[in-house]
Amino acid sequence: AKADGRAGFRFHRTGSQDDEVRKRVRLDHAMRQVLARDGFRLHYQPQVDLSTGRVVGTEALIRWRDPTHGDISPADFIPVAEASGFIVQIGDWVLSQAVRQAASWYAAGRAMPVSVNVSALQFQQADFATRVSRLLAEHRLPPALLELELTESILVRDAAEALERLEALAALGVQLAIDDFGTGYSSLAYLKRFPLDALKIDRRFVRGLPGDESDAAIVRAIVQMAHALGLRVVAEGVELEAQRGFLAGLGCHTYQGFLFAPALDAQALWEVIEPEKALPAA
Ligand code: C2E
Ligand code: MG
Ligand code: MG
Ligand code: MG
Repeated sequence: AKADGRAGFRFHRTGSQDDEVRKRVRLDHAMRQVLARDGFRLHYQPQVDLSTGRVVGTEALIRWRDPTHGDISPADFIPVAEASGFIVQIGDWVLSQAVRQAASWYAAGRAMPVSVNVSALQFQQADFATRVSRLLAEHRLPPALLELELTESILVRDAAEALERLEALAALGVQLAIDDFGTGYSSLAYLKRFPLDALKIDRRFVRGLPGDESDAAIVRAIVQMAHALGLRVVAEGVELEAQRGFLAGLGCHTYQGFLFAPALDAQALWEVIEPEKALPAA
């Protein structure tokens, strides 16, 4: 692996278990240094209203650019941080950065909701809702402008405790969404029990639209169910106009995807949304 300059942080399934463990340890160590040096960045992917074409939200996504290894994907390092527990510190940074950014857009006249990915360990902190509440107050952000994205696995682990935590968060007035909906191992019963606001359709179901009949059937069912339950639906990973058109036809509310824009730095995102202020309200 040494011969390949980019291989340092890569996980080769063919590598020995020892190699894999060493890489994880190295990656975990590197993450701690990057956080200490304030080297992570947040980018924001626009979420677009399917009926008006306007940006109605953003998802905050962490970015790590290493001077020698280049961009390191969160899909590679977030699972390592989750395994080591360091995700709690990263998650704290992400949350405070996202709240600060949303508050700054709000102060500049744009009430732009920001969605933040929350990991299980973070959600399980006894004082998580208190931390969120404190951040909102500190930055004077209206709670409805913060959305927390949770995965199904968080909700099934300890349903009674999860319910209590979700209720505390819902009471603050923040929005709650299920990320990667349909990919976890949970029952649908929780949709009825938990105080949720939105479902995010995973991009593996969006990819085959509109031609793949199974994908089309699954997405149609999710959107219909969300409508019946009064939940907003966000489709992820929309890359093609035909996918956007299909989702719009179903009455899906919003989408995010490379068709409109990837995650952008805060300045670039502002340049997309700022001119929209001048448009007549739809
Ligand atoms: P996710 O939360 O489901 O985020 C959506 C992912 O899809 C992002 O990948 C985004 O860049 C990517 N994406 C958006 N549109 C398209 C598209 O049209 N085509 C394709 N192929 N991909 C698209 P990203 O940023 O690499 O993040 C991957 C995952 O890492 C996220 O999945 C999330 O689970 C995790 N993650 C990212 N940032 C954070 C964070 O701040 N905290 C936590 N806990 N997890 C994070
Ligand atoms: Mg997400
Ligand atoms: Mg997702
Ligand atoms: Mg995903």
